[in-house]
Amino acid sequence: MVEGHTATIGTFKLGKDEPIRVQTMYDSPIPHGQEELLSLLKRLGTLQSMGCDIIRFSYPSDEDHQAFLWLCKHSPMPVVADIHFDYKMALAAIECGCQKIRINPGNIGARWKVDEIVKSAKDHEVAIRIGLNSGSLPKGTEPMPVLMVNSAMDYLSWFEQANFFNSVVSLKASDVETTYQANLLFSEKCGYPLHLGVTEAGSVVSSVIRSTWALGRLLSQGIGNTLRISITGDIETEVQAGVELLRTLGLRKGGIRIVSCPRCGRHSFDSQGFLQSVEKDLLTIDKDLTVAIMGCQVNGPGEASHADIAITGIGKSVFLYEKGKLSREVSVESAKEALLEAIDNAK
Ligand code: SF4
Repeated sequence: MVEGHTATIGTFKLGKDEPIRVQTMYDSPIPHGQEELLSLLKRLGTLQSMGCDIIRFSYPSDEDHQAFLWLCKHSPMPVVADIHFDYKMALAAIECGCQKIRINPGNIGARWKVDEIVKSAKDHEVAIRIGLNSGSLPKGTEPMPVLMVNSAMDYLSWFEQANFFNSVVSLKASDVETTYQANLLFSEKCGYPLHLGVTEAGSVVSSVIRSTWALGRLLSQGIGNTLRISITGDIETEVQAGVELLRTLGLRKGGIRIVSCPRCGRHSFDSQGFLQSVEKDLLTIDKDLTVAIMGCQVNGPGEASHADIAITGIGKSVFLYEKGKLSREVSVESAKEALLEAIDNAK
């Protein structure tokens, strides 16, 4: 059995028996103006209410120092600085008060530079993610998963020589099987927490399918402590997908579970349009409820009877069900308000 390690990121512990955390990465440069920063803070609040636990930012230059300092102070969730090449940026980000930095020691350069980062992270109680992507490793004679694991173990040994154990490892590839095999192999050899993700996974459909196939198999074996579903798209969708994956695997409880009909020739109510209009609200509600949105009288009432709250549209009317019982008939126009009110009132 591999000995387990625990990493600490702000108020979170990562390790065996600790909750699995969802993270995303801010999709733009760090803004510098106060108004933009406040609007970013609002967005972080929404992401957190959707189930995001950790937010990562690129920290590429000294020009970002003041804004990043402010973000580290005000962010509602732990902040990670993503650093490439320049060890001084890592030292500056740590000084700003971030809770974790992500580096690939291989692109920081000389070992003494990496040692400087490790020393500062230790002094400031900041975690380090050793982030290795298959694309950034030199090709060797060994298979890529072995190469990735060996590199990670080498870097962990550097860190341990500096008496630093607050490490997380990520082994990512755009190839699903390489990602799966690398993480599986690592977990057999080493007990440090793993951040999981398939990198450069494409747009929503391809990313969700590829990530679910790789991460779902790992998580079901108890492998993985944080995850990101990398999507060429909204970071809100990344968080939604990450949370949904954990819920589907039974690794996260709570939140609204949406049941909705795919529509067919019998639909007389635009369940698709309705779901689109209300989904963002549903994703940020912290109640453990099943909500069904159905399109006709054939399956609607039946599904409604299994849900905590449901609506079934029939023609110009929408029927609201609470705890399986018909409670109100409302117009299509007022259906969203009625649904949200029923959720608000639900115990
Ligand atoms: S609920 Fe009605 S409209 Fe929706 S898929 Fe089922 S039969 Fe079709």
